[in-house]
Amino acid sequence: MRPVVVIGAGPQGLAAAAHLIERGLEPLVLEAGDGPAASVADWGHVRLFSGWSELVDGAAQRLLEPTGWKAPTAAADGTQYPTGSEWIESYLAPLAQELGERVRYGSRVVGVARKGRDLSVDAGRDSEPLVVQLRRGDGAEARVEASAVIDASGTWTTPNPAGAEGLPALGETAARETGVVATRIPNADEAQSLAGKHIVVVGNGHSAATAITALADVAKREPETHVSWVLRRGTVGNTFGGGAADELPERGALGQRAGRAVRHGDVEMVTAFRTERIELVDGRAALTAEDGRTLEPADQVYVLTGFRPDLTFLTEVRLDLDLRLQAPAKVATEVDPNEHSCGSVRATGAADLAHPESNFYIVGAKSYGRAPTFLALTGYEQVRSVVAEIAGDREAAARVDLVLPDTGVCGGAGDFDAPAGSQLSGACCAPAPAQPQSVELGLSPAAR
Ligand SMILES: Cc1cc2nc3c(=O)[nH]c(=O)nc-3n(C[C@H](O)[C@H](O)[C@H](O)COP(=O)(O)OP(=O)(O)OC[C@H]3O[C@@H](n4cnc5c(N)ncnc54)[C@H](O)[C@@H]3O)c2cc1C
Repeated sequence: MRPVVVIGAGPQGLAAAAHLIERGLEPLVLEAGDGPAASVADWGHVRLFSGWSELVDGAAQRLLEPTGWKAPTAAADGTQYPTGSEWIESYLAPLAQELGERVRYGSRVVGVARKGRDLSVDAGRDSEPLVVQLRRGDGAEARVEASAVIDASGTWTTPNPAGAEGLPALGETAARETGVVATRIPNADEAQSLAGKHIVVVGNGHSAATAITALADVAKREPETHVSWVLRRGTVGNTFGGGAADELPERGALGQRAGRAVRHGDVEMVTAFRTERIELVDGRAALTAEDGRTLEPADQVYVLTGFRPDLTFLTEVRLDLDLRLQAPAKVATEVDPNEHSCGSVRATGAADLAHPESNFYIVGAKSYGRAPTFLALTGYEQVRSVVAEIAGDREAAARVDLVLPDTGVCGGAGDFDAPAGSQLSGACCAPAPAQPQSVELGLSPAAR
């Protein structure tokens, strides 16, 4: 029996493997990093805004429980919100360990194709297996034949640049090589090491808000620290998130903390700044916008402008991708910030994730393409449905039981230059509830 190849041992790839085992299918998980959830490990110091009950997949839980593993309910700080590192330590690493040899580390997928056929050939596409080409850490290359491929490689490894039009700003690539421009989220120690310096954060999202709150704490303690928060859009708009209207309270609170730092003067907002050029000046980085404004040179720049999917290894498979988001077309209609001004998005399953290339699926964070609103819960429902489809259980594949929480935010990347005061530039179209509402999250028992 040919394995189902899963690309990436992140939360979604590992969950897919658990579902495959439950269905009697053989997974082979190929992971570029040296350990489980290598991308989550990169931001391991960041506290998630999802609680434990939203972070564990049902099939993974059923696989783990017979080993004596207990589903975590509390984080080390006593809340229900673990850090990325705790997510790995208490759940993802034990899951990867249970999967054993089915997970291969140091195995970067560099190509997927239909056996013996390039993209242009029609004949045999439905009868021949898929072929996955991988490169190991020592440079050796290998190929694996697969009955199906589930691409769960995420988007963390392909961050967007600072350049306003999606291209690196002039000089940005060279500045990144020196380290003065980085795409990571600073932890508390790194933020503290920048006390008294000028730090620029470029971007409008949860990662940027996380960096801003860490740096604002330093600026509060050491007021000579100068933190500039650079936005491409003309108004602050929904930069501070949905607040009380966000049905994930910790996600709402994160934006509110960043907003308070701005109101208290710990952080300076720079709006309508479309970065065109980054010049190195005595080891510091000076950002210049399209309109000619130049910021005071920064000792450190964090570019946190979101992510995009890596499609370089998918050139030989026939994909149905949305032009704007580079997400599976039917998923994009659900999550496109140009279309969706308010409210929650519908959960997506195998029918939404199918491509003209049979038995090939993109799931997890990568299935949202450039849209920023992916949640682990979304992915767990996707992999349940996709694996049911691969196993031939059409009824289970078609069933979608998950209701996703509302962000409480209007618009996204698509409204970056909406005029001040327009509906799309506001935090939320719907009036915020006077009291936080109780919302049931998670998969229904039938879906788990
Ligand atoms: C700072 C931050 C905070 C977040 N907080 C939350 C939260 O609170 N709640 C929530 O639900 N979601 C949150 N998310 C979204 C989060 O990323 C996802 O829920 C989850 O990590 C997505 O899992 P994934 O498996 O799809 O992708 P990833 O976690 O990105 O995993 C992809 C894996 O694929 C591997 N890989 C990449 N390319 C290749 C290749 N070519 N070959 C082989 N392997 C490859 C990577 O090394 C990685 O291990 C957050 C994201 C960030 C960045």
